[in-house]
Amino acid sequence: MASNILICGTCYRRSKTIEAVKYCTDCEDGFCSECLDFHENMKVATSHHVIDIKVVDEITFNISKFCKVHSDMVLEYFCSDHDALCCRSCMANDHRSCDKIIPIEVAAKDVKSSIMYEEVITDVCTLGTAVSELGDKKKKSVSTLGDSKVNYQQEVQYLQKSL
Ligand SMILES: [Zn+2]
Ligand SMILES: [Zn+2]
Ligand SMILES: [Zn+2]
Ligand SMILES: [Zn+2]
Repeated sequence: MASNILICGTCYRRSKTIEAVKYCTDCEDGFCSECLDFHENMKVATSHHVIDIKVVDEITFNISKFCKVHSDMVLEYFCSDHDALCCRSCMANDHRSCDKIIPIEVAAKDVKSSIMYEEVITDVCTLGTAVSELGDKKKKSVSTLGDSKVNYQQEVQYLQKSL
C-alpha cells in the first residue's frame, strides 16, 4: 500500500506541492521546512502542537500500539515537547511538566482531514485530462476549418473555370 504523503498546506494554497516535514494539529495543516520556520516565529503558534511527520504516520496507521517501556499500556498520547508517543504511565513519569500533550485520536482525526499527496495527484491528473481533451477539440476545430478552406478554394477555382 502506498502511503499518503502529507503536503504543506501553505504551499499548496500557493499552487506549490511540497512535502510536509511537520504537522500542526492546531492549524490542522502540514508544513514544509520553510513554512515551518515561519510558523514557529508566529506569536500565536507558541502554544501549537507540532508533530513530526514520521510520528504522523505512526499516529494515522498504527493506532493502539503498546508502549515500549510499559508493555501492558497502550500508547494514547502524543507529546509535542518531546516529539514522542506515550502511554498514561509515561505521561505521569516523563511528561509531568509537558503541556503540549494531545490524545492520539484527536491528532489522527485532524491529520486525516488535511491535504494528502495522493489527492493532489488525482487533482492534477484530472486537470491534465481536461487540458488534453481541450487540446484535441481545438485541433479538431482547426482541421475542420482547414478542410472548409480547401473546399472553398476548390469551389472558387471551379467557379472561375466555369465562367
Ligand atoms: Zn500551528
Ligand atoms: Zn510550505
Ligand atoms: Zn509508557
Ligand atoms: Zn513530554
